[in-house]
Amino acid sequence: MAPVAMRLAAQSLSDAQPVPFWLEDPGKPGALPALTGTEKCDLLVVGGGYSGLWTALLAKERDPARDVVLIEGREVGWAASGRNGGFCAASLTHGFGNGLARWPGELPKLEELGERNLDGIEEAVARYSLDCDFERTGEIDVATEPYQLDELHEMYEEIERLGLADGLELLDRDAVRAEVDSPTFLGGLWDRRGVAMLNPAKLAWGLKRACLDLGVRVYENTPGLDLVSAGAGMGVRTPYGRVLARRVALGTNVFPSLVKRVRAYTVPVYDYALMTEPLSAEQLASVGWKNRQGLGDSANQFHYFRITADHRILWGGYDAIYPFGGKVSAEMDHRPETYLKLAEHFFRCFPQLEGLRFSHAWGGAIDTCSRFSAFFGTAYQGKVAYAAGFTGLGVGATRFGGDVMLDLLAGERTERTELEMVRRKPLPFPPEPIAWAGIGITKWAMARADENGGRRNLWLKTMDRMGLGFDS
Ligand SMILES: Cc1cc2nc3c(=O)[nH]c(=O)nc-3n(C[C@H](O)[C@H](O)[C@H](O)COP(=O)(O)OP(=O)(O)OC[C@H]3O[C@@H](n4cnc5c(N)ncnc54)[C@H](O)[C@@H]3O)c2cc1C
Repeated sequence: MAPVAMRLAAQSLSDAQPVPFWLEDPGKPGALPALTGTEKCDLLVVGGGYSGLWTALLAKERDPARDVVLIEGREVGWAASGRNGGFCAASLTHGFGNGLARWPGELPKLEELGERNLDGIEEAVARYSLDCDFERTGEIDVATEPYQLDELHEMYEEIERLGLADGLELLDRDAVRAEVDSPTFLGGLWDRRGVAMLNPAKLAWGLKRACLDLGVRVYENTPGLDLVSAGAGMGVRTPYGRVLARRVALGTNVFPSLVKRVRAYTVPVYDYALMTEPLSAEQLASVGWKNRQGLGDSANQFHYFRITADHRILWGGYDAIYPFGGKVSAEMDHRPETYLKLAEHFFRCFPQLEGLRFSHAWGGAIDTCSRFSAFFGTAYQGKVAYAAGFTGLGVGATRFGGDVMLDLLAGERTERTELEMVRRKPLPFPPEPIAWAGIGITKWAMARADENGGRRNLWLKTMDRMGLGFDS
């Protein structure tokens, strides 16, 4: 980084609070009391992020008489669900390209289910008055290098060939800059309906309230410590009590699963984001952004960025940090060297905003799996179900995951459980130090590809052939 750019980036960060912007909201609800004594229920949901909350809500929608308990180890929404970028995508496959590479035959079905899932989220936002700044403004994938523009055009042609290009629009340089103005943009692909922008923490808190209103009993600061068979059902021990449940759904994401064999399928990958102070009217006019879409650039190491309800810009991504040993730890939640890099990239993208300052900087763990999209399964003779591995695109897909867990627990064959994507597991990650070395080489090769016009080296091509990868 040039010294001047470095100095400007550092200055812009000097007041940044090291906390997730969304979680610092005065409207944040207080934590509910921890569980004491013995609870009995039909369904126990473990985890108070979107996975757990949607599962509890959908369970009540399917059968209002069902007795549902949700336990959360800390506070609802404190983890990925309260600190993400707020891009709520229809895609269940971490994007079209990944879906096409892995499940070409069933991709039209997956896209249809994904769209219905996003419609379902929009309906729930209206039905339960979830105050989460939901705006279905879409997302523009922008190209900042000529090879990326070629790739966007190829992708569009492929999507069109499958008859799935409804709502997609290719933008040339002038058209993309008329939407959001950056001298680095060469063109873009706007998916007008497939992504909504929202306030992530407010969605989690709204879902918590909706669950309570439907009669779900929610306990916070209540980690499930272990899982044992108990007669026809299951037992989960907590610090001050226990839950006896006929069925258990695990929405525990990147945290160590209560079903041990599931743990090898995910690794934590830390992703970081900055939030600016609100833009003045002149600053806003200098970028445009009237249609308020989310944006992402198209390199392997990509940035995602969007505008908030109060006209701040969230700018995140690029570095994806894997901690040796795959441990989730609070220490990893902050990384000033990444913040500096992100700030410098921000002003390269929006030089007209020089002088703007960042108010918040934070990070969080993403549950990366080797196929970049969720996997599902059951344990204890079908009494326990799990869904994890959403890899940086779980804001929308976790609701689908909740539906799949409920289908599996009911022992029902549905259009979801018939999917190859649902029936097949990804390849697990190897133990250390092989995981560390493999991920390190892959990250290095991806950075090289970004510098070399997108050309993938032998290592990446081999990984592609094996269906293995690393992403955030
Ligand atoms: C910085 C960042 C940016 C992101 N940006 C986006 C984005 O823009 N769009 C997108 O689609 N995705 C994004 N993601 C990913 C997205 O946030 C996640 O996929 C999604 O929130 C996962 O929801 P979850 O409920 O599965 O997990 P979490 O939100 O992690 O919730 C899991 C919960 O389970 C609890 N828990 C774990 N173990 C136990 C236990 N034993 N007992 C009780 N409770 C337990 C945890 O305390 C936690 O609250 C981002 C993630 C990060 C970190």
